[in-house]
Amino acid sequence: MSGYGVSLAELRRHVAARPTWRCRVCAAPWPCQPAKLGLRTEYARDRVALAIYLCVLMHDAIADRLRTHPDQVDPTGYFDRFIAWTRPWPPPAPSPPADDRPDLHQTLDTYRSQAPVSVQDSARVPPGTGGRADGAAP
Ligand SMILES: [Zn+2]
Repeated sequence: MSGYGVSLAELRRHVAARPTWRCRVCAAPWPCQPAKLGLRTEYARDRVALAIYLCVLMHDAIADRLRTHPDQVDPTGYFDRFIAWTRPWPPPAPSPPADDRPDLHQTLDTYRSQAPVSVQDSARVPPGTGGRADGAAP
């Protein structure tokens, strides 16, 4: 059983017909929802293997499409159809764009400018200045 009240054998019947890559049972673009459910069940413990398997099938589907309709191939659509749905759900939060990330050197300079004076810095205070590093009278 798939865990959804449908047998895995039933889900496995939803295979692609080439070169159209439509399901032989429900005629939806493959992988149809039952096929996805079956694949998720079979590969529940190895999503990477599922993604690799579907990459191979996506390659075959694109090659078939290029033979039959060479001017109608949408790589993004194929990726969404074959691969994108295999990602873990919910998807991880996106990383901020590189331009929005703090610059490490700037962060360190800011930290250093706000940090209390270290013991080594205090040792450099000239004698007779009342402890002020700039030499001004306290
Ligand atoms: Zn189907």
